[in-house]
Amino acid sequence: MSVRDARSAELYDRACKVLVGGVNSPVRAMRAIGRDPIFIDRASGAYVWDVDGNKYVDYLASWGPAVLGHGPQVVLDALRGALPRGTSFGAPTEREVIFAEAVRDAVPSIERLRMTSSGSEAVMGALRVARAATGRDPIVKTIGGYHGAIDGLLAEAGSGATTLGVPTSPGVPAGATAATRLVAYNDLAAAEAALEGAAAMIIEPVAGNMGVVVPEPGYLAGLRAACDRTGALLIFDEVITGFRIARGGAQERFGVTADLVCYGKIIGGGLPVGAFGGRADVMKVLAPDGPCYQAGTLSGNPLATTAGLAVLRELADPGVYDTLEAQGAALEHAFRAAEVPVQINRIGSMLTPFFTDRAVTDYASATASDTDHYGKFARALLAHGVYPPPSQYEAWFVGTTHSTQDLAWTTVALAAAGEASDA
Ligand SMILES: *Cc1c(COP(=O)(O)O)cnc(C)c1O
Repeated sequence: MSVRDARSAELYDRACKVLVGGVNSPVRAMRAIGRDPIFIDRASGAYVWDVDGNKYVDYLASWGPAVLGHGPQVVLDALRGALPRGTSFGAPTEREVIFAEAVRDAVPSIERLRMTSSGSEAVMGALRVARAATGRDPIVKTIGGYHGAIDGLLAEAGSGATTLGVPTSPGVPAGATAATRLVAYNDLAAAEAALEGAAAMIIEPVAGNMGVVVPEPGYLAGLRAACDRTGALLIFDEVITGFRIARGGAQERFGVTADLVCYGKIIGGGLPVGAFGGRADVMKVLAPDGPCYQAGTLSGNPLATTAGLAVLRELADPGVYDTLEAQGAALEHAFRAAEVPVQINRIGSMLTPFFTDRAVTDYASATASDTDHYGKFARALLAHGVYPPPSQYEAWFVGTTHSTQDLAWTTVALAAAGEASDA
């Protein structure tokens, strides 16, 4: 099946002359699946349309935010209502209070919240608070864990259970990651050792950025106990999992309470938002109550807050999470019915198909996946009108608006792409 792409090609050509690599965030360039980027015109519900008029059943979901599908009516209406009152004040609003109350109602561990404009900023703030509150520098992170494009956490590992952080990106000074300790995901003993004298452990409670990798039973509770023993804080980066795998995120789903939690993606309703929060006695180090500085010109932006609040209100209906669970199961079933030869890691409405025959439990096993195979598979899916994440190491998201028909079409496309990529 051939796809029209003349207009995308023309835009990419122009874009490359003015934007680095033609994009504003690297994975969008689609190099990881060996093709040029597709320029999007619009999105609605479960679909995106590109500038050449091709329609796709979408499983990228804007990398997570589109849990209720694209452009839910409640969000569009709320934004229309908010627009005439202005787009930014740089002063507090009632909406921010209502928003923070809505987060606290869903997540009991959030006694105090600070809003930001992105998940990366939320993580930066949480780390600074953890260091200020404990008076310690070292941060423990998992290999393959992603916490935004921030200097101190752009580090992965050499070999061994615990390695000192080495920057993975040029431009990150060695000093920025010198206090970053790396441990394999799901390796409790390594984390226990690394947490001695550490300010905090930051973790995606369900990894989403090495593809989906779920915590083994007892892992998160073990981290909680190790933090309690060592005096380190436990930071859950729930930028993906927050309000997706349960209303209360991983904390609710696994019954483990973090000291600090970071949010982004879903809570912005498709506008730029992040937030971090947690224990009042820890958060109080933050300015203006304490000496730990953090700020943002557009933090708590009225439009972003409005969009996020509209989504949080919809997600207060517990039935939504039953729907998301069923949707995730239906997508997993589509893969099985299509007989694509993959290992599927899924929790609720997020999953990753790995092209390997071994279980994927950490970064090392995730990277055993055949990424060339994934690339061929993803390209074939696009040609069949299904939009997957353009990298093996990302999560597929299914929202509330994918219909039975969409999933049936997806099954057909998965089977065709499975065959095409096997050849
Ligand atoms: C996307 C993501 C971030 C960064 O959020 P941005 O809004 O892109 O800055 C941080 N942590 C996790 C787990 C993410 O998936």
